[in-house]
Amino acid sequence: MRRLLLVAAIVTLGIGAAWLRKDDTLAAQSQRAPAGTSHVGKAFRFNKVRDGVYHAVGTGALVVVGNSSFIVNDNDVVVVDDHVSPAAAWVLLEEIKDVTNKPVTTVINTHFHFDHAHGNQIFDQRVVNIIGHEFTRQMLLNNSIGMPLYRNYVTGLPGQIEDLKKRLATESDATTQASLERQISVAENNRAAQAELKPTPPNVTLTDRMTLYRGSREIQIRHLGRGHTAGDVVVFLPREKVVMTGDFLTAGLSNLSDSFPDEWVASLDELKKLDFDTVLPGHGDAFTDKAKIGYWQDYLRDVWTEVSRLKQQGVSAEDAAKRADLTKHSAHLPINGPGVPLIGVQRIYDLIDQRAKR
Ligand SMILES: [Zn+2]
Repeated sequence: MRRLLLVAAIVTLGIGAAWLRKDDTLAAQSQRAPAGTSHVGKAFRFNKVRDGVYHAVGTGALVVVGNSSFIVNDNDVVVVDDHVSPAAAWVLLEEIKDVTNKPVTTVINTHFHFDHAHGNQIFDQRVVNIIGHEFTRQMLLNNSIGMPLYRNYVTGLPGQIEDLKKRLATESDATTQASLERQISVAENNRAAQAELKPTPPNVTLTDRMTLYRGSREIQIRHLGRGHTAGDVVVFLPREKVVMTGDFLTAGLSNLSDSFPDEWVASLDELKKLDFDTVLPGHGDAFTDKAKIGYWQDYLRDVWTEVSRLKQQGVSAEDAAKRADLTKHSAHLPINGPGVPLIGVQRIYDLIDQRAKR
């Protein structure tokens, strides 16, 4: 009898261990697939920039919005940013399995914005650390979805779907019809995904810097000062000379809705001090042209001056958004004519008012 019990115990333990191993390989994800993951073809293009270092850019098969990056180390994977929804993050992890079966142990949020941190909720926090600036945690804990940037985004989604449906109803060309149908299904998936959103803050925070050591890989997480938000971090790989910048520096224009444009210029000077040659931005393709930092600093100085000047003249934010002329930067930035997004103008007006009160 005793021997039988012993056998039973071993069998039970064995099953338990097998189950745990299976659970470990499922690793990062919580167990249930979120809504809105269905798509045709690959959702991401993975651009390999160094051994084990990838820039993940959406193909359009799924709404992902921002870019992410991931770093495959000796024993694990570190993901930088996790896109616009639980569905997008889920599919990212599915497609990372095409590259490696090592477990994702760490996610880094470059900042709190919806298109970079709204995949956080799918990660099982018993096995995954989500790292971000203390400010990023506070925003995701408290009111990130009440901020104008996300409100504008999410309230605009039903109208976009309606517009696509109207265009489909009057379209006679079969190829265009098929394309519109695809766009509608991609947009409806995103709406379903947004409905399941539960903003989830980092469970590990920093205020200045933190370094992850993974074998020969050194992964520095650096807050270089206020800029795009009060809590952006960049992820710097000194040996590989690669930096992942989120929206602190993109391939084009970054949104200004939570920014400190004047302080951002000085924070970008700190970025220039890092020894890298490749930038993996949160929007747009990877680039090596470090002159882009200066182009963006020039734009930030001028947008501040121009919008301040209009405010001084008593121009409303709405009119200033139409009139602010930054076209002299069009050689280096995607600017087609006068105008700055209203959300950015409003931010600059608010900052000026706040400072005048002090
Ligand atoms: Zn972004």
